[in-house]
Amino acid sequence: MLANRKPTDQDDGTKRYLVKCEGCAFEDTADGRDTATTIGTDHQRETQHEVVAVEVPPALDTS
Ligand SMILES: [Zn+2]
Repeated sequence: MLANRKPTDQDDGTKRYLVKCEGCAFEDTADGRDTATTIGTDHQRETQHEVVAVEVPPALDTS
């Protein structure tokens, strides 16, 4: 696990991505493009599947 998240970097710096596989039902969310790429590359290397990352608009961000 990489310590990728900075507590102070909550707003427009980090975008959220939905990583989806076109070859199976694999699906995951990632904070930031680097994380999304890591997840996608990982799955692709293991399965040879085609993985896409879709940007998720930060709409439901009321905690
Ligand atoms: Zn897959």
